[in-house]
Amino acid sequence: MSDIKIDDLFIKNTLQKLVQINSVNPGLDPDGPGEEEIGVYICDTLNDLNVPCEIETLSPGRVNVTAGLKGTGGGPSLMLNAHTDTVGVTGMDDPFSGRIEGNRLYGRGSYDMKGSIAAILAVAKALKEHDIQLKGDLLFTFVADEEYESIGAQALVKNLTADAAIVTEPTGLNLCLAHRGFGVFKLTTEGKTAHGGRHEQGIDANLMMGGVLSELNFLAQRLPKETSHPLCGQASLHVPLISGGRSLFVYSNSCKIHIERRTIPGETKEQVTEKFQSVIDRLSRENPDFRATLESEIWRSPYEVDAESSIVVATKNAASSILGKAPDIIGHTWWEDSAIFGDAGIETVIFGPSGGGIHEDVEWVELDSVYRLAEILHRTVIDFCGKRGQA
Ligand SMILES: [Zn+2]
Repeated sequence: MSDIKIDDLFIKNTLQKLVQINSVNPGLDPDGPGEEEIGVYICDTLNDLNVPCEIETLSPGRVNVTAGLKGTGGGPSLMLNAHTDTVGVTGMDDPFSGRIEGNRLYGRGSYDMKGSIAAILAVAKALKEHDIQLKGDLLFTFVADEEYESIGAQALVKNLTADAAIVTEPTGLNLCLAHRGFGVFKLTTEGKTAHGGRHEQGIDANLMMGGVLSELNFLAQRLPKETSHPLCGQASLHVPLISGGRSLFVYSNSCKIHIERRTIPGETKEQVTEKFQSVIDRLSRENPDFRATLESEIWRSPYEVDAESSIVVATKNAASSILGKAPDIIGHTWWEDSAIFGDAGIETVIFGPSGGGIHEDVEWVELDSVYRLAEILHRTVIDFCGKRGQA
């Protein structure tokens, strides 16, 4: 392990400072300041390490930070990525303390995912201080808005690419090769307004929706049993929102639901849409008064990377050698920016620290795991990008 010289104290101090900077996503909480202050702090830290860095403003208060170490040529390029925003802090005591107790550092974002930002910065520090010349380019990217609309990752892939990426979301130092996606659809049934006492003139959009809900309930029961993935678990659907009608004594002219569909790798937007459309088509055939429309409002692809791809193998080898055992192969049930990078043709693996309380009232990261993460990233970078002077 002689080639790894990670500065643990730098990680601890940097992480504490990162947690003390409020970077709550304003899309989730209107009082959230966004990523500008933390972006400037990250950029200043990189500049202090002599790593040139750029801040791209996406909208007021929302920024991406990108930096890179240019390779000498002849090696593949790699991106180390983290998001800088956090979810809100309602219900938390002292969310920005960065308090350390034993091996735990507490606060919003400590685990998801400022520990990873500190680990990436420590990799940059180690490479610069030991003047390690990589063959392939190494990119450091710190993006906005992963917790809401991913404006950061989407803007990033428009300007920049790499052969591979490591998204350093929390994985407990396990290797995450796949995650579920999700889609949100709006389905609206149309009725005909009439006085409640004139049943021959009215068409009740709410009762029409009843037929839809009954079909969706049937689908929701069957879907997890019929559609599953070895790493990500089952596909699912539910109806988180429903509204319909204007008033008592009036036939409802419109009823609207939102369908949330969680997908597994391999499922496409076309397939999922077609399934919902076929419900509408069937009900239309059965009832000439039935009118409904379907719109896709949000689509986030599921993701899976080939277990034999070179970035997966490099990360697995580095983790095995640092941890003394092969990391477990896992999947996540929630969506991550990795799908955006994967869709952009960047082979992406997810690997990050251990901790707890993600999106909960008490969040912490285990400091030891952040130090190990930095060592593993450092070794992966050298193995993957190649080191000048090595075959
Ligand atoms: Zn996250």
